[in-house]
Amino acid sequence: MLMLPDDFQPAILPPTDIEQPARWFVFSTNGELLIRFAEQGLELPLASIWPFAKWPTVRRLYLGTLHGQPCYAAEVDQFDAPPGWIFEGLRALWTRLDEALIGIAGQALQLLEWDRSHQFCGRCGVPTERRSAERARRCPACEWTVYPRLSPVIMVRIAHEGRILLARAPRFAPGVYSVLAGFVEAGETLEQTLHREVAEEVGLRVQNLRYFASQSWPFPHSLMIAFTADYAGGELQVDGREIIEADWFAPDDLPGLPSPMSMAWRLIQDFMTREAD
Ligand SMILES: [Zn+2]
Repeated sequence: MLMLPDDFQPAILPPTDIEQPARWFVFSTNGELLIRFAEQGLELPLASIWPFAKWPTVRRLYLGTLHGQPCYAAEVDQFDAPPGWIFEGLRALWTRLDEALIGIAGQALQLLEWDRSHQFCGRCGVPTERRSAERARRCPACEWTVYPRLSPVIMVRIAHEGRILLARAPRFAPGVYSVLAGFVEAGETLEQTLHREVAEEVGLRVQNLRYFASQSWPFPHSLMIAFTADYAGGELQVDGREIIEADWFAPDDLPGLPSPMSMAWRLIQDFMTREAD
């Protein structure tokens, strides 16, 4: 599951007495992580100071410590990686890079993107400054403060007579189906979002909403909040825009599924485990 490891200690400013070399989560401008294949598996740059002196960073953020080891996020302009190193997308690194490191990399990616896109005040246009007491950027002219942006998304697994509803969005790979999902709109509760999305996308009503779990999804700044629900009525009819196909699937007859890194996959996997019991 994509999450910060429990033993990660977030911080804004690096400690003054660093004893261990830092881990560097280095991203290219298009969001790929710098890694190297080593005998023990994939590894990240490890150094007390920025290890690629000839290669300037566009921005650096201190993240905190993992087992006492300082962690930095850095963004570099896109050009060739140093010899022996390559850039890889986080999705491609899932299960290949240590899970704790993937979790921190997700936060690093999200914070770099936020820092990059909030260089100027949204109110008055003056360049913003990084705050040292909290994870924020502030405008020195009008004092408007911006925090890392999070966009909540609800996700729901709808069950009916031993089967679940899975649907295809136009952007999905061929043959892949997933649970329904949608962004929370201003003024809505999570429950309202869920009922609205289900009605809009497939024309159904649901009942017995139950919270399942949540997960960060840093592409670029979502928080996935998953529920389960039961079918309550309505005729299955896709909207043809956000959803192009939808159907009920039994656990032994599932279509192609989303990445095991995703919340959707966990929701579907949980259904299969329950039905197998
Ligand atoms: Zn301002």
